[in-house]
Amino acid sequence: MIVAIDGPSGSGKSSVAREVARRCGLTYLDTGAMYRSVAYLCLERGVDPADDEATERVAREARIEFVPDGEGQRVIANGEDVTAQIRTPEVERAVSPVSANPAVREVMVALQRAAGAAGDVVAEGRDIGTVVFPAADVKVFLCASPEARARRRAVQRLGGNLATGDVVEVDAEAERTILDDLVRRDAYDSTREASPLRPADDACRIDSSDLGFEEVVDAVVSLSPELAARAQKGRS
Ligand code: C5P
Repeated sequence: MIVAIDGPSGSGKSSVAREVARRCGLTYLDTGAMYRSVAYLCLERGVDPADDEATERVAREARIEFVPDGEGQRVIANGEDVTAQIRTPEVERAVSPVSANPAVREVMVALQRAAGAAGDVVAEGRDIGTVVFPAADVKVFLCASPEARARRRAVQRLGGNLATGDVVEVDAEAERTILDDLVRRDAYDSTREASPLRPADDACRIDSSDLGFEEVVDAVVSLSPELAARAQKGRS
């Protein structure tokens, strides 16, 4: 079974997708980490992310692996553990032009479909329900107000996690910078020509601004009898 979860940055997709996968015995696929890995490899090699041909070469040569690590997973790109490196502001700035490159997307989508072909997957990203798995069994478009999303990201950067109630104090200035960056990235992702961020026509929209983490996960699981049955089985 394939579950597609799309939405803008900081909507809580990653935590929700990971938890749905855990509860329902599915494999979690973080497609954003794949685009981030290509952006990181470009920066490492001194390739300008706006240079489409050079960036495409980097994407074609990239070997991206996900290795389970406790509750989470580590991201390995060309043999290097890049789990932390792909979350830096430098990579975040470089990832938009990289992911707007149709040739890079073609390479990544093929890898994502191969991962889906191998079995039961919860994939999260921007174009999962529209392009990567248009026939997904369950499609969710997770959104939240820009302010709620910036707050989540700011807490996450400091090692906290609002989803699990692990709250830390955030600096208002830092939160503002994150908000500006989110708004910029959303605008870029939504208006690019190649697979812009948009809900699939048959996606169920969930606004997580005022919902707790468990409520969002329950809402996703309850969208499909098969998911609910898998979650039930996982509990017993
Ligand atoms: O989800 P995350 O914030 O890690 O994604 C990083 C960037 O990768 C996004 O801003 C977007 O440009 C790109 N992306 C994409 N398609 C996906 C997943 C991510 O274009 N399926």
